[in-house]
Amino acid sequence: MISALRGMKDIHFEDARKFEKFLDIAVHIAKNHGFSHIETPILEETGLFKRSVGESSDIVGKEMYRFTDKGDNDVCMRPEGTAGVVRAFVEKKLDKAGGEYRFYYFGPMYRYERPQKGRLRQFHQFGIESFGEASHLEDAAMISMAASIFDALGIKYTLKLNSLGCEKCIPKYKTELVGKLTAMKQDLCEDCGRRIETNPMRVFDCKNDACQKLLTPLPRITDALCEECESDFDGVKAALERIGITYEIDKNLVRGLDYYTKTAFEFVSTEIGAQSSIAGGGRYDKLVESLDGKATPAVGFAVGIERILDLIPLDEPLRKGIYFAPLCDEAVLQAFEMSRDFRQNTVTYLGYSAKSPKNHLKAADRHNAVWFAGIGENEMQTKSVWLKNLETKEELSLSWQELKAKILEDR
Ligand SMILES: [Zn+2]
Ligand SMILES: [Zn+2]
Repeated sequence: MISALRGMKDIHFEDARKFEKFLDIAVHIAKNHGFSHIETPILEETGLFKRSVGESSDIVGKEMYRFTDKGDNDVCMRPEGTAGVVRAFVEKKLDKAGGEYRFYYFGPMYRYERPQKGRLRQFHQFGIESFGEASHLEDAAMISMAASIFDALGIKYTLKLNSLGCEKCIPKYKTELVGKLTAMKQDLCEDCGRRIETNPMRVFDCKNDACQKLLTPLPRITDALCEECESDFDGVKAALERIGITYEIDKNLVRGLDYYTKTAFEFVSTEIGAQSSIAGGGRYDKLVESLDGKATPAVGFAVGIERILDLIPLDEPLRKGIYFAPLCDEAVLQAFEMSRDFRQNTVTYLGYSAKSPKNHLKAADRHNAVWFAGIGENEMQTKSVWLKNLETKEELSLSWQELKAKILEDR
């Protein structure tokens, strides 16, 4: 027997219903915010992620599904969604056209990680990317949008907020940080030692307790913001306060990726074990430029769909629709015809052969139908159905005409 690959999972039954419920809500809310759908390929040139996510990151350095295709191209399966959307944006020359462009996407992403709870090698993200709007109110609007999605799903969260500075304030801060880190290099872990050269701000991401102790007293970029970053950050906070969204400032929130600037945010849930990130995003004003586009302000976020499935309540009724049960051979095609008509408007199940009422009732129950519509010899003659409500057990006889009105009014 062939099983699914390690770290890859089938999504079906209850999880599939939750998955669909999430997408229905997220897409609806994204459209209400003026976003349109974009689909980018799963497979991209490896260079795209090297240049956007950064070669020093674990994602690109260790976790990519990367291979050479038959045309000798170095390709990989996307480890995240933003790079592909930015590539499409630049390729379509929207950066040069000017104006604002807002896209949402969803689909599978691939990372060759050690599988553990909540971390799969194929996982799904829903994400949004907004291009061309530099106002800090766009940052606040994106946070508000993510909050609306979680609110609509009934998911409780904590919002963490930070500012990562810009090209004006980062270099000065970085120089100071590198000086301090170099002085303590021998006491830091190997990864942190490497980060001093490649991406010093990422040391704050280190999971090593000994490192965390040493790093705690060091200044953060949040304490060294330039005037513009400071006032943008204040603006984001004021906008969130105005709409009643509470937040915590988290100076350790540096995000894993190189291209983030200014606002960074993360939605965390305490309901799935330890504090666990359910959505993250922020501003990335430098990314379009670094992928050969014209400098374009941009902000976005992504939600890990598998991570929140357990948090999504299913409130739709378990029982739904009608089951047509032919009880004699002559009724088989009659039921077949009626089921087609009903399927225009409601969930409809159909027995394909004449069986005893007991047999069909069992099947109707297995399908979780509300209504059972039996058609036997008697019903064929009088053009009626024997209708039973499987919840209330109420039974009645209705003409074929009356049936439709009854079921649709009840739906
Ligand atoms: Zn700045
Ligand atoms: Zn470390």
